[in-house]
Amino acid sequence: VCPTAALTEVNHIDKVWEALNDPNKHVVVQTAPAIRVALGELFGMEPGTIVTGKMVTALKRMGFDAVFDTDFGADLTIMEEASELIYRIQNNKTLPMLTSCCPAWIKFIEHQFPELLEVPSTCKSPHIMFGTIAKTYYAEKNKIDPDNIVVVSVMPCIAKKAEAKRPELTKDNHNNVDIVVTTRELGLMIKEAGIKFEDLPESQFDRPLGETTGASVIFGTTGGVVEAAIRTAYEWITGKELENVEFHQLRGSDGLRKATVQIGDRELKIGIASGLGNARTLLEEIREGKSQYDVIEIMACPGGCIAGGGQPYHHGNFEIVKKRQEAIYREDRSKRYRKSHENAEILKLYEEYLGNPFGKTAHRLLHTHYEERERI
Ligand code: SF4
Repeated sequence: VCPTAALTEVNHIDKVWEALNDPNKHVVVQTAPAIRVALGELFGMEPGTIVTGKMVTALKRMGFDAVFDTDFGADLTIMEEASELIYRIQNNKTLPMLTSCCPAWIKFIEHQFPELLEVPSTCKSPHIMFGTIAKTYYAEKNKIDPDNIVVVSVMPCIAKKAEAKRPELTKDNHNNVDIVVTTRELGLMIKEAGIKFEDLPESQFDRPLGETTGASVIFGTTGGVVEAAIRTAYEWITGKELENVEFHQLRGSDGLRKATVQIGDRELKIGIASGLGNARTLLEEIREGKSQYDVIEIMACPGGCIAGGGQPYHHGNFEIVKKRQEAIYREDRSKRYRKSHENAEILKLYEEYLGNPFGKTAHRLLHTHYEERERI
């Protein structure tokens, strides 16, 4: 199940049905960017078929009170992560900054490189940020007791199940995210509900937490998180509009890649690793003081979340992964807005609730910390 055989899948389907059948619960669901380009495979569709609209319809028919998008959380992550990167650069703080969306790699650094816990961004991952906002901003706006909100995450990932239970993310027994199911589990649930997925009409995500940009979609593939961050950091640093938002030097499928991006008078050096062996190479360079990078993206699964351990099995066939990756970039190109800081609902969230990106409230709600864990 897990591509590195480090984890065994635990099925949480019954917990979701139980929540959906509880009339006292307001059950919201969010779906990660990688789900929409792979779920169709479980229903006989070609790899890379984009099934966003059918997936939303299926979730609505299953009885969720609101169907939202983890891409909203990804746009929020970029607001915070790009701000943190700029803060670190302008204040001579720790560089390189490492992305923190992947809980498997975060666990890896906590166990294997505890002396480097200052280097990852402190941003919570997108689905955890989403869960936090659902239980605060969304709850207050809709006058719902957060204790009665159940947040379900559909993830391409088994490690996200463990992440949702991290003690620092479940303060005072309040979960940010209550239940995590994988793409495969969602496929099973759709079948259990007797829904004929192939024949479904398309629907839109609910608002406001379903408003998203192309930058958030590309989180689903290796290189996407750092590309999304650069789209925003570029405009914030230079004050100029980015003419071409596609940074092809950051794309690809090799497990270890490096690239540069010119931002104003600074050439930003970027490293990208997918697969923990490649992550180790970059982390050892940092530990030895030899790292050449300003920012590094790390994803535990080779290829990123599109090839995650909760996705339909690809059995090592990277042609399938490539088709999912192409679909991710198609989805990005189809979006009217392709930079996270152009997401109108995100801007409203800051205006009404969070204050400034990387400010006091944002820090309290959207950032976390890491701890040394027993070396294994
Ligand atoms: Fe999960 Fe793999 Fe994505 Fe990391 S890269 S978040 S382990 S699916």
